[in-house]
Amino acid sequence: MNYNIALVPGDGIGPDVVAEAVKVLDKIGEKFGHSFTYNKVLAGGAAIDQTGKCLPQETIDICKGSDAVLLGAVGGPKWDSYPGDQRPERALLGLRKELGLFANLRPAMVFEQLSDASPLKPEIIEGGLDIVVVRELTGGIYFGEKGVKESTPLGPAAYDVEQYAEEEVRRIAKVAFDMAVKRRRKVTSVDKANVLESSRLWRRVVAEVAKEYPDVELDNLYVDNAAMQLVRNPKQFDVLVTSNIFGDILSDEASQITGSIGMLPSASLSTGNFGMYEPVHGSAPDIAGKNLANPIATILSAAMMLRYTFGLSAEADSIEDAVKAFLTKGFRTPDICAGKESVGTDQAGTIIADLI
Ligand code: NAD
Repeated sequence: MNYNIALVPGDGIGPDVVAEAVKVLDKIGEKFGHSFTYNKVLAGGAAIDQTGKCLPQETIDICKGSDAVLLGAVGGPKWDSYPGDQRPERALLGLRKELGLFANLRPAMVFEQLSDASPLKPEIIEGGLDIVVVRELTGGIYFGEKGVKESTPLGPAAYDVEQYAEEEVRRIAKVAFDMAVKRRRKVTSVDKANVLESSRLWRRVVAEVAKEYPDVELDNLYVDNAAMQLVRNPKQFDVLVTSNIFGDILSDEASQITGSIGMLPSASLSTGNFGMYEPVHGSAPDIAGKNLANPIATILSAAMMLRYTFGLSAEADSIEDAVKAFLTKGFRTPDICAGKESVGTDQAGTIIADLI
């Protein structure tokens, strides 16, 4: 079977880490008898330099015509003085909108071999950690009605409206439950239903969707409690599902628990399994082109692409196992070396590909 992948290397370390993910995908193709066709496209600062636009129409068209998108990172000091709507990072918003990416999946994994990197006490994350935050990405307060009032009894004011339609909640809840079925069969829905009307609707619709998944356990937590539980006892969670703003905050908190930004993949999905996959980290201009970047976040993003868009679970498992074997054998990139000898970006990719 052939799979068409749009590659968006982007800026800074983006091209370095995407090249290593391609190396690993090619090894998977060889071993499992698949072929991957890559269409490399421009976005971010690289696109501004070559076309004057951070997200050229050609990039949108090629991404739409592909089975999935693999992105490195965009942005860097060279473009920092550009006005907000012309900055490289706008390409990400444009891609989310154009590709209809309404669900953001951020796994937070602590590999047992790297538990020293977590800021949490060893006994809290003993044996590793594996949770995933499913964040609604295109609704809620970030996209609701907003405005300023020049005069109120307390002076000028501003407002942003949190609004969710039942269908928006239903489709994100389904993503979370479908994911839980492939994992440890537990969904925790996070809201603020003791205060917010929109959260009461959220909770009701999630409970309706849960009825379609009798084998998956559903828990509801208020967001303040969820933030506390994430650092007190993160292992109680499997899949967390929540709104745009709560997910923004909780997914950053969850990723900090792991202590290693170079290890964290992410996925943004639309309907029909289409997805854009990218590392959580940025373009790391301080180490770009120096063979110092950790490619594992991007390699694990490629594994997510195989699992969630292409339905290739065994292939995804074999990438994740190769990453674990890399760590178990004592290999480290500089960001996670903690006193151990380290390997460069390209060597890390080659070793992981060889371990498949
Ligand atoms: P960053 O994630 O790029 O870097 C933060 C720190 O982590 C740096 O010290 C960097 O060297 C290190 N780091 C990041 N990824 C690493 C990796 N794979 N291996 C080893 N070390 C790694 O965040 P930042 O410095 O705040 O942002 C830099 C640029 O990236 C900015 O222009 C920002 O707007 C952009 N950015 C892009 C995205 C994206 O494309 N999705 C996300 C965040 C930031």
